[in-house]
Amino acid sequence: MSLREKREEIEFQTLSPIATKSAETRGRKVFCEKCDIRTEFQKDRDRITHCKAFRRLMHKTQVFISPERDHYRTRLTHTLEVAQISRTAARALGLNEDLTEAIALGHDLGHTPFGHTGEDALNGLIPDGFRHNEQSVRVVETLENLNLTHEVIDGIMNHRTVCNPSTPEGRVVQLCDKIAYMNHDVDDAIRAKLLEEHDLPSTVSEMFGTSPAARIDFLVRNLVEHSLECDEINLSPNAAVVLREFRKFMFERVYANQLHSRERSKIKTMLRLMYEHYLQNSQKLPSEIQARFEETPESAIADHIAGMTDRFAQKRFMEIFTPSAWEV
Ligand code: MG
Repeated sequence: MSLREKREEIEFQTLSPIATKSAETRGRKVFCEKCDIRTEFQKDRDRITHCKAFRRLMHKTQVFISPERDHYRTRLTHTLEVAQISRTAARALGLNEDLTEAIALGHDLGHTPFGHTGEDALNGLIPDGFRHNEQSVRVVETLENLNLTHEVIDGIMNHRTVCNPSTPEGRVVQLCDKIAYMNHDVDDAIRAKLLEEHDLPSTVSEMFGTSPAARIDFLVRNLVEHSLECDEINLSPNAAVVLREFRKFMFERVYANQLHSRERSKIKTMLRLMYEHYLQNSQKLPSEIQARFEETPESAIADHIAGMTDRFAQKRFMEIFTPSAWEV
């Protein structure tokens, strides 16, 4: 019996009946020999952490644009926080921790530069629209050809609130993404002097606590306890109502902040000008992007722009639209 087969056996013996067992995966689009050490979901986690799109998350905005200060979250640290919180919840619920981790690490791989502002900009430019969850799937399936298992791709595709993941592990990531971003975005908003802790609605601080750590602890406990008692992966109804109120507050005070919106219109203009430039000057795109024009030029250019880090987008914009000095 190989080490992987032993691990698969342990999953059957120890995980919850509703957990997704790696030996029962629906598999990959292209057949691939199994590893003798790692399970299929462990292999997917490793494929994700070694791909280029994962490394680029380091220089992509979470909320605060191109932060010069070192303590703001980036898309990479957000991803790691989601993975950590999701693993804690999955382990406590007897779910498959490896599948949960792979989904969490891959969920934002298709995110644009400049956070949701970049996403909105591309969404307004591409004829079929642009959504980061669909782009994350495009990254793992087409652009980086990671050939992941069905369950990991399903969890990545369906991590947004409006979607319905088909595994309990995908559902855990969907909830823990929210738990992570709302709490770390409060922390960063306080760092940016947009908020003070006492500005939070009293319902939020009374139920969830008065620090990010206390709130994450409360929400993870609530998720675990409620899900163990009931036949669903969810927060208790009371906590879900207060979390919605928390989210509404964050939209009003942080995500739609005036100061922020000044930068937002610059980002939208910048990405639109680059998009139009590449539509008219496709020869300036990298050859692998030009090769994708057969699908549609618009989606190929969206792949290129969505893949950029904040700093790469700024650098390209300067190169295209500002004169450079004569260097002799
Ligand atoms: Mg996320």
